[in-house]
Amino acid sequence: MDGLTACIFNIQKYSIHDGPGIRTVVFFKGCPLQCSWCSNPESQYGKPQLTVDEGNKPTVIGEYRTLDYIMKEVMKDKDFYLESKGGVTLSGGEVLQQHEFAITLLKRLKKQGIHTALETTGYTDPMVFQKLIANVDLLLFDIKHYDNKIHYEVTKVYNEKIIFNLKAAID
Ligand code: SF4
Repeated sequence: MDGLTACIFNIQKYSIHDGPGIRTVVFFKGCPLQCSWCSNPESQYGKPQLTVDEGNKPTVIGEYRTLDYIMKEVMKDKDFYLESKGGVTLSGGEVLQQHEFAITLLKRLKKQGIHTALETTGYTDPMVFQKLIANVDLLLFDIKHYDNKIHYEVTKVYNEKIIFNLKAAID
């Protein structure tokens, strides 16, 4: 048992676009960036949100999930991962916003022999970033713009930490 919880946006099964093989993608809710083109602005806020769906029915986006719940869900497809050389991808929002949960989840997946991938903007403290990528087999680094000023204009954050983390990941 582990008491950690994270606000999760969605768990998408049978994905073939977020790393090798058949994968489950766990989408973390909350993102420190505000990209002008963001197609999922509801993924930026790090807590569950009440909204209305297309049929005007109230619906909640995002739920707090425990580590045990996520592990149970993703391990249901272990056979698919093994057969297809797939695994589990953590995405967002921005996973790094809930890094303690993410690091523990990645460690548990690795212990079970599951291939792990991380989709990230890299916007976090370098020490946190290092701890995270130590448990990641495939890093999908999504840099928005190399120029610091333009990065700020389009995302509302500067990119120094991002560039630092990108370079550290490549080294
Ligand atoms: S990093 Fe992704 S989730 Fe965050 S604001 Fe940009 S497009 Fe949206």
